[in-house]
Amino acid sequence: MTKVTTAQLQQFDRAHHLHPFTDFKQYQKQGGRIVSRAEHIYIYDHDGQQILDGMSGLWCCNLGYSQQRIVEAVNSQLQQLPYYNNFFNCSNQPAAEMAKALVDISPDGFNHVFFTNSGSEANDTNIRLVHRYYDLLEQPQKKLIISRHNGYHGSTIAAASLGGMSFMHEQFRGIDYVHHIDQPHWYAEGGDSDRNEFGLQVARQLEKKIDELGEENVAAFIAEPIQGAGGVIVPPETYWPEIQRICDERDILLISDEVICGFGRTGAWFGCETFNFKPDLITFAKAVTNGYQPLGGVMVGDKVASVLLGGDGEFGHGLTYSGHPASCAAGIATLAIMKEQRIIERTASDIAPYLQQQLRQFEDHPCVGEVRGSGMVAALELVGDKHSRAKIADNSAAATFCRDQAIANGLMVRAVGDAMVTAPPMVCDRGEIDLLVDRLGRALDATAKEFAVK
Ligand code: PMP
Repeated sequence: MTKVTTAQLQQFDRAHHLHPFTDFKQYQKQGGRIVSRAEHIYIYDHDGQQILDGMSGLWCCNLGYSQQRIVEAVNSQLQQLPYYNNFFNCSNQPAAEMAKALVDISPDGFNHVFFTNSGSEANDTNIRLVHRYYDLLEQPQKKLIISRHNGYHGSTIAAASLGGMSFMHEQFRGIDYVHHIDQPHWYAEGGDSDRNEFGLQVARQLEKKIDELGEENVAAFIAEPIQGAGGVIVPPETYWPEIQRICDERDILLISDEVICGFGRTGAWFGCETFNFKPDLITFAKAVTNGYQPLGGVMVGDKVASVLLGGDGEFGHGLTYSGHPASCAAGIATLAIMKEQRIIERTASDIAPYLQQQLRQFEDHPCVGEVRGSGMVAALELVGDKHSRAKIADNSAAATFCRDQAIANGLMVRAVGDAMVTAPPMVCDRGEIDLLVDRLGRALDATAKEFAVK
């Protein structure tokens, strides 16, 4: 690579690169951090600053950045067969093997997969699959999808319509057959109610919404086991069993969007296993390749698959890179590492409980109203007053400040609303969790001082 200075790169970037989820106007002025390399759980910027990556990239590099086996798998696949499509009755070895590998680690009753490149496309695919399913069952009017406010399902028009981020909805016109119910966010929306009672109440909104829309018109309910981008919202214990009861009693499909929760994040292969519910379809992406190659898809449960497989005619949906050989090669290597090194078992029995326990010490911090999390994902809700749950400052200014302090202290975390979010790689050891917690603590202290929270 030619030698370029950080300032030059920032200049090219500011002048020509439109970034995702970024304030374009502001970015032109301030520019950004150029990340140049990474090792184990650390990223390094172009000036050499080392930052512990408490976000696993964008919730995807669950095994960190030094997995040579994935690099070699991709490299050798690119030499053998860099590309061929999976249309017109063709397949390739990595796609076929990856399909089998995914079935092997999926819950019972999941024996088929449709590949995409991303989580957004996988959720678009979900809509196509459930519409096709009910068409084949001769119930073509069943087209409506129910999802949740403050859920995140991606950025294509359909996936963003499924999502419930109000600031996104303000910027585009969503598809008209998606209907939202409330999220199970007890701390923000539960008021004085009992946590478990609140969980039941918000779950029962699904039942009400089905009745309101007419069960004969509703095709599916989609939700993340834990809302990730919405701020790591861990539902009350009563929530998922009640959702399961409703979905069992009603003729609608349940889609678990596991783009963040999948592949060990919650301490099991999938979040639906941690929360003990049985979806009909599972969306996956991100950590399936440890973030090394774009790959996503839908695991299709037997109930849906049996109808799809019995239908006459072609399913009119697919992507040029569905089942891309290099992406599937990365996925095969990723799953093999996870299995052979017993990553999930170690996460569940040691490193995740340790992370959660260490973070709980911040419950006593003056700035922190709630510490929530499960497995290797957690959030600290910042408040100015623990009793009233009042915010420290408007416009999430305290969380933004806290995040910037963390980065300055060598820790990458994310600010979501007023919450500080972390989802570190599962290959951390206890010492590295201690380092993360120490740096986060410094950022919290600085925030308390800056905003005079006592
Ligand atoms: N679903 C969930 C739950 C996600 O968190 C994301 C991405 N953060 C997506 C879907 C979209 O995935 P992608 O960005 O790969 O399109």
